[in-house]
Amino acid sequence: MLSKIILRQDLPKLVDALANDFLVIAPTYEKKVPTFSEVESSSEVEFDILFNEKLPMLPPKKIFFPAKQTVFKYSLTKGVTDSCDEVSDAANHNKNIVIFGVSPCDVSGVGVLERIFKENYSDDVFLQLRDKTAIISMNCLDHCYENCFCETMSSNDPKSGFDIMLTEISKSKLIAVPNSDKGKKILRDYPEIFTQISEKDSEAYTDALNLKNKNFKTEFLVEGLASHIEDNFESKIWEEFTEKCLFCGSCTFVCPTCYCYTVKEIVSVDLKDGERQREWDSCYFPEFALVAGDHNFREKKEQRFRYRYLHKFVDLPRRYNLEGCVGCGRCVTYCPANIDVRDVLKKIRGVM
Ligand code: SF4
Ligand code: SF4
Repeated sequence: MLSKIILRQDLPKLVDALANDFLVIAPTYEKKVPTFSEVESSSEVEFDILFNEKLPMLPPKKIFFPAKQTVFKYSLTKGVTDSCDEVSDAANHNKNIVIFGVSPCDVSGVGVLERIFKENYSDDVFLQLRDKTAIISMNCLDHCYENCFCETMSSNDPKSGFDIMLTEISKSKLIAVPNSDKGKKILRDYPEIFTQISEKDSEAYTDALNLKNKNFKTEFLVEGLASHIEDNFESKIWEEFTEKCLFCGSCTFVCPTCYCYTVKEIVSVDLKDGERQREWDSCYFPEFALVAGDHNFREKKEQRFRYRYLHKFVDLPRRYNLEGCVGCGRCVTYCPANIDVRDVLKKIRGVM
């Protein structure tokens, strides 16, 4: 069996070993908020985030698709002077990247973005970063907190998109299951950390997976949801939630599958140099659907509120055959108006 055992006490050793060979991104706290950050040693990593049911505030999308990014720089006399490869820190880093401690729902979220950034138009900026990254995922054996509904969105057990899956099989041991050549290589390259698996460990792994199956329960039905939303296009339910919404955009920024961005041209005062930037945008902002001639396709607040649901739960499933939500619950956690995506969907479904 290619899987190996790693002792929980050796996780810091693994991070230190990886940091010699890779740019390592791992869970840390920034101003007491759990986040993914670049780390140089295990002393910077907050391992309790992995084991104590916390999700970093921003999902790993910020690594492949930063909140603000220079796409290229140009000069009047020299043409394009730098492309994103040269100006992006992570893309420019000589080392490959390892993201350590990614939850299964976030693995699924990266998968959604990868599909979107590959389909129709290939976004090299995103794909280059994704290509040089290995993901070490930390399995969840139960819902990680009250706002999680990953099982409902079928994102708690991804089959691809990660290179190693770590699963706790006892208080002191984890099993490391490789899922790609990159993952197999990491297990091979650190033999002092990853050790052989015993028959008893295999049995404990089966027990852990059985426990996971038992613990996860579907919260509401997703099947047929797209039709329910379409049938309720004119429903008063949208207005009800629109009245509460502050249109701050937080839910879209923390969402692992939201990918909308705007493009800005920053030009020097003498008009000789400039750069093109892209930065996260939100469909909840009034200017999002504003086009030339001052026409706004979603002028009214309820149109904007409804649109996010149409995009995630109607358009993406129909167009790409994938869910536009992985049930991470971040939008619930960070909504200042206490709007819960599950309540909206349940009301639309008529089960609340
Ligand atoms: S976080 Fe809440 S208040 Fe802010 S835009 Fe989203 S739903 Fe509205
Ligand atoms: S819509 Fe909310 S629950 Fe679904 S993936 Fe986005 S942040 Fe997570």
